[in-house]
Amino acid sequence: MNEINEIVVISGKGGTGKTTLTASIIPYLEDVVIADCDVDAPDLNILFDLETTKAEDFVGTQKAVIDYEKCIKCGKCYRSCKFGAITEEIEINIPKCEGCGVCEIVCPVNAIEMKDAVVGKLFISNTNYGQMVHARLKPGEETSGKLVAEVRKRAKKIGQENNMKNMIVDGSPGVACNVISSITGAKKVVIVVEATFSGLHDLKRVYELTQKFRLSVIVVVNKYDLSEDLTQEIEKFCKENNIEIGLKIPFNRNMVKSIVNKKIPSLEEKDFFDSLGFSKFINKLKV
Ligand code: SF4
Ligand code: SF4
Repeated sequence: MNEINEIVVISGKGGTGKTTLTASIIPYLEDVVIADCDVDAPDLNILFDLETTKAEDFVGTQKAVIDYEKCIKCGKCYRSCKFGAITEEIEINIPKCEGCGVCEIVCPVNAIEMKDAVVGKLFISNTNYGQMVHARLKPGEETSGKLVAEVRKRAKKIGQENNMKNMIVDGSPGVACNVISSITGAKKVVIVVEATFSGLHDLKRVYELTQKFRLSVIVVVNKYDLSEDLTQEIEKFCKENNIEIGLKIPFNRNMVKSIVNKKIPSLEEKDFFDSLGFSKFINKLKV
């Protein structure tokens, strides 16, 4: 089985241009399978013409189900649930249930059973550039780490079965468990950062997380001309930590227009991307 070059694009928070950059990279990678691991806000698919070939329910956890014919309304389950998922009227608030199983244990009359629950949907689609695995969590569900891991696993399987060279992952933003599910074992992690105070702060947190897994990191500064001072701070932090800055992108209104028109910015604004040295950046992502 070939070793796939897995590139994961992440950021400290949403709205930094992570998905825009991921979409822009894709057409430049030949032989690629795509994974949209931003399952809480999956936007990558909007920019591609998709032909969905598979859609399936994702069972990510178990949830408590009460048999009211057996329930004697003793209230033990309500008092024992640490997640506030059982109301005083002994009803389960499904999205809040974490599936810990405590209520099932404390119920004196075995009126509670843990049952598999569908927390989202997983899709496999064809795009003009390769297959895409993507997913959507059900509204209110928070258990996205498992779904992220499943999206990555499926994409990797497709890549390996088809002997593909590259896999690109639009990772989850932040530093929570779903991000860890996005990055573990990646060949290259691209951190997208904006030239703002919070951007610099987020970069430090995300970088620290990647170093727990000793991952190779490359930074992209988006809208670097928002603040030359903060860009210098970012550059200083990168220099001190031996992190390569692969690309610096100035603010460009046309990029926003491309997204609004559901077009891939690096194709719509090719001259602009060429002027940034985008091909050179892409070469750094390839093995
Ligand atoms: S399984 Fe756990 S979280 Fe869910 S209702 Fe029971 S005690 Fe609460
Ligand atoms: S612990 Fe069992 S019997 Fe008591 S209120 Fe809950 S479901 Fe009903």
